[in-house]
Amino acid sequence: MAKLFQLVKLQEIDNQLLELDQLKGDLPLQVRKLTSRTDQLDKSIIIVKARLKEIAVSIQRLQTLELERKTKTDKLQEQLYLVKTNREYDAFMAEIDHLKSEIDIEELQELELLEEKERLEEQLKLEKLQIVEFSNELNKQEKKLKKTIAGTEKEFEELTEIRETIVPEINARDLAVYDRIRKARDGVAVVPIQNGACSGCFAHLTSKTIMEARSGQRLLTCSVCRRFLYWLEN
Ligand SMILES: [Zn+2]
Repeated sequence: MAKLFQLVKLQEIDNQLLELDQLKGDLPLQVRKLTSRTDQLDKSIIIVKARLKEIAVSIQRLQTLELERKTKTDKLQEQLYLVKTNREYDAFMAEIDHLKSEIDIEELQELELLEEKERLEEQLKLEKLQIVEFSNELNKQEKKLKKTIAGTEKEFEELTEIRETIVPEINARDLAVYDRIRKARDGVAVVPIQNGACSGCFAHLTSKTIMEARSGQRLLTCSVCRRFLYWLEN
């Protein structure tokens, strides 16, 4: 009976700890979600800014190149009047055509980069607004959570201290089973028998089990939910 008594005591403490934890509501989840969102935005903003820098460099390079080719084309066109043979003329024309088609390609590349730049600048503007919004919300939720934790801190510490005095009195094997069931069954591993049934899963118990529980001779478990059972004297 002493074994079960310690487990019942432990469950009572854990129920109170669970209640304290539930006071936090969904605040821990909200804080985690908002933290992950702001982190994602932070990363995205860094990537977008780096890409915008790359684009600026590429556009600069293309514009310099275009200017060079245009100057060269103009020069060739002037020289065209001075050529003497058809062969020379064809060679000049071929070079001018080549330069012009290069310029066309580069202008197209520049246009694509400008479009990308515009798109990314819009994205950056939006993400900067979002990050301010999320950060403010995160701040608010974190404050609420801290306040809740601070309000229950003393009780939490007291309960934890009591828990630490009970735990060593329970053998390791029972404690391991207790922890396992608690994890699997929403924090409740020890329940009283009520109206001839397990009050954890409401499974009906045999009269033999009830009798054994009443006598308190050994540790009983519900055959359905595996929780420890005890007889609650009225
Ligand atoms: Zn049960």
